[in-house]
Amino acid sequence: MPPLYTKSKKVGEGTYAVVYLGHHTATQRPIAIKEIKAGQFKDGLDMSAIREMKYLQELRHLNIIELVDVFSSQEGDLNLVLEYLPADLEMLIKDRSILFSPGDIKSWLLMTLRGVHHCHRNHILHRDLKPNNLLLSPQGELKLADFGLARSLTSPNELLTHNVVTRWYRAPELLFESRHYTEAVDLWAVGVIFAELMLRVPYLPGRDDLDQIDVTFQALGTPTEENWSNVSSLPNYNDLKIYPEPTRSELRKRFIGATEAALDLMCGLLCLNPANRWDTERALLSGYFKESPDPTVPVDLPKLS
Ligand code: ADP
Repeated sequence: MPPLYTKSKKVGEGTYAVVYLGHHTATQRPIAIKEIKAGQFKDGLDMSAIREMKYLQELRHLNIIELVDVFSSQEGDLNLVLEYLPADLEMLIKDRSILFSPGDIKSWLLMTLRGVHHCHRNHILHRDLKPNNLLLSPQGELKLADFGLARSLTSPNELLTHNVVTRWYRAPELLFESRHYTEAVDLWAVGVIFAELMLRVPYLPGRDDLDQIDVTFQALGTPTEENWSNVSSLPNYNDLKIYPEPTRSELRKRFIGATEAALDLMCGLLCLNPANRWDTERALLSGYFKESPDPTVPVDLPKLS
């Protein structure tokens, strides 16, 4: 523990990490110290993970959590020093006493896309976007958290997990175990989060990896050679039930109250073929962000009571 920081109470525990509240000694700024448990890395902490953490430390954006510092403790645990953000979007979605207005949803989606855009511009993929990784500052700013490490961490035991490293936000190319995935995996996850903000329940809640494939394609149609060339040669593409893509009128019924521009954006993000999926720029320029209502200003967004 470098004397630069003091560590106080434990505030949370994840699959791989214990999180403590701490303070930057000189400024008394509150920080979160995320101690990654030793032995959680597949083949030791590989260079690419270290490189990404280094980038993250340099990435500065209002909608990305600030990685203040990185140090290793005497036991060899990796410690991430992060800005302290005690709330996340999952908590808000689950609090049924809070109503979301269309402007609130637009504001959270806009902040998410801005954060993702900044990362992609710097060639960093998140790979594990979900409401629980979208942290909220006391001023209402949304910040992407849990970057870059996702790929290097050991897959947790399926029996133990359940809701932890969730599969519900996984893009079709990941479900097919394609080894050549791109930024598009993050945009898919943003599309699933957008749907969840409107529905207030998870959109594609697969019970296990096989069920995830079924749930995803039942809702959005099974990809075929017609809309995704060579999809049938991907490792996991076999014995698939062929579901039709939902019609526009089916989507209107599923997302009551969504405008046509909102549905256009959702369809662009949840495009099965990653090559045709909208990128952050296209999403940010969509009609949804131009039409009324304006996105709610962050300080006016709903907060946990
Ligand atoms: P998970 O992603 O599985 O929830 P984490 O290891 O990221 O696990 O975090 C565990 C818990 O620690 C979170 O649920 C949250 O309560 C808390 N936490 C994580 N990061 C921060 C942070 N930057 N500021 C405040 N609390 C945090």
